[in-house]
Amino acid sequence: MSFLIPCPNCGSRDVNEFAYGGEIAVRPEARPNVRELGSYLYFRRNVAGVQREWWFHRLGCEAWFQAERDTRTNEVLLTERPRASRDEAPPGPEAPALPDTPAV
Ligand SMILES: [Zn+2]
Repeated sequence: MSFLIPCPNCGSRDVNEFAYGGEIAVRPEARPNVRELGSYLYFRRNVAGVQREWWFHRLGCEAWFQAERDTRTNEVLLTERPRASRDEAPPGPEAPALPDTPAV
């Protein structure tokens, strides 16, 4: 099934240009116990409805962004660049590295 996703940088493009990064999960505190860590790594809510997700524009600007998508209809309701929050870091090794601050 094909649908359009509006990239925040490039505009609407076919979904095949993107890689799905999974639903957004909040990272546990600095020293999680085994249950908290296992839950963060392996369990997803998998809602039938609107959920926030990570998407990567692999055949375009190569940027990670967040989207709100209705999983029942694949209607993308919102896309936006990631917020500067530690709790919502992009998944996987393709995540962009933050540039080092030059020493002055
Ligand atoms: Zn793009």
